[in-house]
Amino acid sequence: MQDDIKQYDVVIVGGGLIGMALATALAKSPLSILLLEQNTVAAVAANILDLRTTGLSRSSAAIFQQVGLWEKIEPIVTAIEKLDISEQGGYGSARIDAREFEMSPVGYMAPNLDLIKILSEYVQGLENVSIQTPASLVALEKNAQGYLLQCTSAEAELQVQARLLVGADGARSKLRSLLDIDASHKDYGQTAIISNVRPEKLHNNCAYERFTEHGPLAILPIQDQHCALIWTHASEQAAAHMALDDAAFLAALQQAFGHRLGRLEAVGKRVSYPLSMTTANELYKPAAVLIGNAAQSVHPVAAQGFNLGLRDVQSLVGLLQQQDYQLDRLDQLLKIYADSRVTDREHVIKLTDGLTRMFAAQFPAARALRGVGLRVLGALAPLQRVLLNRNSGMRYLNHWFDQ
Ligand SMILES: Cc1cc2nc3c(=O)[nH]c(=O)nc-3n(C[C@H](O)[C@H](O)[C@H](O)COP(=O)(O)OP(=O)(O)OC[C@H]3O[C@@H](n4cnc5c(N)ncnc54)[C@H](O)[C@@H]3O)c2cc1C
Repeated sequence: MQDDIKQYDVVIVGGGLIGMALATALAKSPLSILLLEQNTVAAVAANILDLRTTGLSRSSAAIFQQVGLWEKIEPIVTAIEKLDISEQGGYGSARIDAREFEMSPVGYMAPNLDLIKILSEYVQGLENVSIQTPASLVALEKNAQGYLLQCTSAEAELQVQARLLVGADGARSKLRSLLDIDASHKDYGQTAIISNVRPEKLHNNCAYERFTEHGPLAILPIQDQHCALIWTHASEQAAAHMALDDAAFLAALQQAFGHRLGRLEAVGKRVSYPLSMTTANELYKPAAVLIGNAAQSVHPVAAQGFNLGLRDVQSLVGLLQQQDYQLDRLDQLLKIYADSRVTDREHVIKLTDGLTRMFAAQFPAARALRGVGLRVLGALAPLQRVLLNRNSGMRYLNHWFDQ
């Protein structure tokens, strides 16, 4: 090996939320870590997508607690205590108050820009983590010690050696294709419109989910009595809604959402995001593993993608910790890792795909079935408890990490 090639125990490709969460979770390990990110930190923060607010499940809050970051994150989140699920033009609706089940909060809303800021400031202060940005992975070569990576950076070409290579480089993962891992892709022909709205009434920490004639609409509580909006449309309709001026857009939104929060008084900048699902057909190769959106990128209908990715992080770190961070039996460890992710991953993939199809169906029988389903859910407390439990993600947490 050439002297000028830097060597790391772990190279994480992709410094998005999941890559940074992995670096954070490995902070107390003896491993030397390199985080490679193709954008500058400023560009990641300015990404239009990150006008988004991410719904954090209870499992994510628990993981952030385990890694010691929750006290920094808690001040920026808004708790969700109630759910209100309804259908435009239908009679079925369900209102669930998680406090009655002692399961409050159901989750939390966290602005992405704040989350990115907290994670990136934390990661930049870690002694065992080096950050190379902007630097893009372009090629790799397997060798006896792991992988030799070729990267392009602002200054020059860069070569680094990794014993364990982690792909956290998002849905279009370059690492996934360099490892020859196939992925299945499904285009939903849908686009999400994301913005913030200010309603007349207080949100009272209630998350509203409504099936509209255009697609599912979520109005979620955030700070200062504002709400985050995610409104899914067939892609042509989304373009038409994006082209409306604010007053016309608010009128269309009000018509679809109704008056549960009174008049919708103002809307912020709107961004649109085409929706698809991409799932890697394998999670690992010798000495290399995929996590987060690189492993599976799902429809945001159930607000699960980041939460699932964070459980990937927890599972991987839990296993490494259990092995005292020894990297000499990596293949065995990565197989156990992949096996441990099967149930959680399948559950979220099936849930999001199923909900997307169910919400999209507009024929009368589907609408009637949804109406009955919502009325049953609204009336049956045990069913509500099951829903809250499943949403929390807690049963998929890996308890190795507690040891
Ligand atoms: C509209 C919408 C709403 C959502 N809401 C929720 C929600 O409420 N709750 C939830 O849990 N999830 C939600 N999600 C999903 C969530 O946003 C993602 O699952 C999560 O952000 C994925 O993070 P990631 O770090 O795996 O991938 P990404 O955010 O895609 O990050 C990948 C990083 O890798 C870098 N990169 C790519 N290629 C290279 C390369 N070759 N070299 C170096 N770096 C590279 C990129 O620049 C990027 O920074 C939502 C998604 C959408 C679209």
